[in-house]
Amino acid sequence: MIQEQKIQLIPLGGLGEFGKNMVIVAVDDDWIIIDSGSAMPEDGMLGIDVVIPDFSILLENQEKIRGLVLTHGHEPHMGALPYLMEQINIPIYGTKMTLAMARFYLNEYDYFEPVQMITLEPGVPFQLGKLTCELIHVYHDVFGASGVAISTRSGWIINTGDFKIDYTPCESRNTDLDRLGALGREGVFALMIDSANAEYKGSTRSESEVGEQIARAIRQAKSRVVVHIYVTDLVRVQQVISIAEELGRRVSIPTEQLLTIMERAESAGALNYSRRNIGSGQKRGKSKSAPLPGIILLASVPGQPYLGPLSGESGHRFQLEKDDTVILAGSYHAGTEKTLIRTIDMMYRQGAEQVHELISRGAISSHAGQDELKLILSLTKPQYVIPVHGEMRHLIQAKALAQKIGWDEDKVFVLDNGDVLEMNKETANIVQKISAGKVLVDGLGVGDIGNVVLKDRKVLSQDGVVIIAMTIRRKSKKLAANPEIVSRGFVYVKESEQLVQEVTAKLNELVETQDFDHYDPASFRNLVKDVISKQLYEKTRRRPMVLPVILFV
Ligand SMILES: [Zn+2]
Repeated sequence: MIQEQKIQLIPLGGLGEFGKNMVIVAVDDDWIIIDSGSAMPEDGMLGIDVVIPDFSILLENQEKIRGLVLTHGHEPHMGALPYLMEQINIPIYGTKMTLAMARFYLNEYDYFEPVQMITLEPGVPFQLGKLTCELIHVYHDVFGASGVAISTRSGWIINTGDFKIDYTPCESRNTDLDRLGALGREGVFALMIDSANAEYKGSTRSESEVGEQIARAIRQAKSRVVVHIYVTDLVRVQQVISIAEELGRRVSIPTEQLLTIMERAESAGALNYSRRNIGSGQKRGKSKSAPLPGIILLASVPGQPYLGPLSGESGHRFQLEKDDTVILAGSYHAGTEKTLIRTIDMMYRQGAEQVHELISRGAISSHAGQDELKLILSLTKPQYVIPVHGEMRHLIQAKALAQKIGWDEDKVFVLDNGDVLEMNKETANIVQKISAGKVLVDGLGVGDIGNVVLKDRKVLSQDGVVIIAMTIRRKSKKLAANPEIVSRGFVYVKESEQLVQEVTAKLNELVETQDFDHYDPASFRNLVKDVISKQLYEKTRRRPMVLPVILFV
């Protein structure tokens, strides 16, 4: 009898949240990592650039890691790559286009160390440790997207990656339903399925329809057209460029990173365009020779607020002109709804008359809707189903869906990041919970920002800071001079004379009553802090951060 392998799934991110997808498939002593994504900081994480998974378990088990397989070039799937590679330089596997994107992310973060990258063709088996694996072509709104299948003695373990089913796809093939069906007949042990759009009833609309919508908006526009996307939305780039070429309108691209990615995509054979029709955007699309005003393709880059270039959040705002037609055609980024509404409003204020909002939610999502999920479940017939990639409500919806079409409740697992799911032919259980928290990245610091720092930033952002600098004559128990009170974001000191006088009086009183012979600097500092904080709260109902700086002479 063949001995059964010990099979575990350990998600490090992507469950109960949008972004930072990463999961370990552990079969005996062979560990395969799928994806290494990042997430956008949440409200309240002030000053944080990006959030990445906790890699501790990987560092502790380095000798077991056989490689990292990347499913596709979106930030939620490879944004943490530079941070991971800085800690453990492991071989990376993926399609030609996905690896080109991986190189882009690494370089974007100034990571230039040699990295072993192994290019794979979907459908062609490759070996990771003792495990035979293959990529499955899937359709998604980036080129070269794939799912991953790993062969075990209990059957295939499949991670779909992000996908949708599109029978009239743009410039690419539909999800490989044939191969998924074949794997289903061979026997699928566990299926991790993209549940990001599991709330959507029915099937998502075809990418061609999105293309037609973009084309219609561009055709109608008599003046300049500004299309906003995310740098990785290459399918949209292709759509815009194709229609521009057809209409004889020139495309300007002010975002340097997008030009870099386009060149990579072109050499990977994914993107098709005539360089003559593309400008770097210095002239902002005002070409005198072209019959119609140009099209500006404006892209947000990793680590930048999604609508940054239009909303001004990225420092400088793109200058719209009256009569501009604006098309928001980027992939959907969770948590950007508020900015989106504000930004659209602002564009109308600037005089843009036509704003088309196509941002992919629900119907035109690049993630499978309920009917598509049902189809994949029916084709692959997995023993165990693990919804991945989504907020809790998406995962639970996907679970309900699987149960509706015949899976027992104990065969579908809604997991939390850090849960260790151990599965065998008879049963599957969460056997352990490892630490899989959020690691916050602020500038060059990775993981050094904790709750205390975040809390400080929150206080500073809400009520500001008051710095009190004072010199105390120890012998006479008196202040050497009036204390210097500096405030930022609290009150304008020059116009708050009375408050300053009251604080000064309070400080004098404090100093006079202290016994400085038995003085402990830290506790006196805290005393000043507490007393003044209380006083300021009573007077203003605000709680600024009070920082006393005390000098003794
Ligand atoms: Zn994606």
